[in-house]
Amino acid sequence: MSESNEAKSRRRLVLYPDPVLRRRADPVIAFDDSLRELLADLRILMKQHHGAGIAAPQAGASLRVFLAGSEDPDAEPVAFVNPRLHDFAGEGVAASEGCLSLPHIEGEVLRPKEVSITAFDAEGREFTLRSDGFLARVWQHEMDHLEGVLIIDRMRTLDRLANRRAVKELEAAAEG
Ligand SMILES: [Zn+2]
Repeated sequence: MSESNEAKSRRRLVLYPDPVLRRRADPVIAFDDSLRELLADLRILMKQHHGAGIAAPQAGASLRVFLAGSEDPDAEPVAFVNPRLHDFAGEGVAASEGCLSLPHIEGEVLRPKEVSITAFDAEGREFTLRSDGFLARVWQHEMDHLEGVLIIDRMRTLDRLANRRAVKELEAAAEG
């Protein structure tokens, strides 16, 4: 009678090469229950898969929404709706990145060190954050998802070659 207390997502994690990951996501127009449902599902999936962030296309929803952790590791992830990055600063920094939608794939991605992000929360209130650390990287990675860009597009050539087999395996798995 009593089912697991753990909340279940109505959506599943989408893996490469699902075409939704390659679409440019649409802006959110209404801050309504369907947005809150999507955010709840993203929170569940991010926790389940131990992500530093997750973007709506990774749950099959082509909308400009993502979640990212906050500076406080115990805090709930922060929701970014219709986000935009601005005021990039600092030298490009290369660091290893993975992606929930690309299991077993990892490679170095060069990104600007420092950036600001302005977005809306679930209630439609605008806010701005700035980071020159790990979160700056997470925001840029999630923002890429909203443009249909993946880490395999941004990796240096050597890492792309090193991951070629894993990418092919994902493509083959999708073909069944
Ligand atoms: Zn990702």
